[in-house]
Amino acid sequence: MNNKTLLENLRNIPDFPKKGVIFRDVTTLFDNPDCLQIMEEELYDLYKDKGITKIVGIESRGFIMSSALAIRLHAGVVLCRKPGKLPCDTIQETYTKEYGTDTIEIHKDAITSDDVVLLHDDLLATGGTMKAAYDLVKKFNPKKIYINFIIELTREGMHGRDNFDKETEVTSLLEV
Ligand code: 5GP
Repeated sequence: MNNKTLLENLRNIPDFPKKGVIFRDVTTLFDNPDCLQIMEEELYDLYKDKGITKIVGIESRGFIMSSALAIRLHAGVVLCRKPGKLPCDTIQETYTKEYGTDTIEIHKDAITSDDVVLLHDDLLATGGTMKAAYDLVKKFNPKKIYINFIIELTREGMHGRDNFDKETEVTSLLEV
């Protein structure tokens, strides 16, 4: 799936956050009503028949389309956040990044074993962030887990989707 309008509106920022990196800026998809509508419709087509009951949005750019799709699917939104932001008891996952480690967490009562979960983030690069979210959600033992990104980096030697079990369906709206 590679929508021309989405590709044309994606803003590429060279040397951000450091030299040699091209940052794919999705804010230009979020602030454009046509792009928002295209993304929402494509996501709805992908997930309308999957019985999704919860969409886990990864902080913070993952929150936007998680919310839009959840309203359309009549699913709930679950926030996956950095430590110290969620007010109630949480389950955490710590993962290794390029420099040091990071932790993400979800409210302990936000997902049950009856849920069918869609994990959503704006972008897949190495896959480290989503793998941590995937491992975290697996601890809740949901019926099934799906994974989606707006953008999947495939042309920069990235194989982010190799992090997930073969039986887990991974989709993206744009391959860059
Ligand atoms: P990964 O863990 O797959 O290496 O990196 C993906 C995470 O970092 C996502 O949460 C994503 O928001 C952020 N990220 C890394 N590179 C980019 C980029 O070029 N554009 C955007 N929008 N997010 C990025």
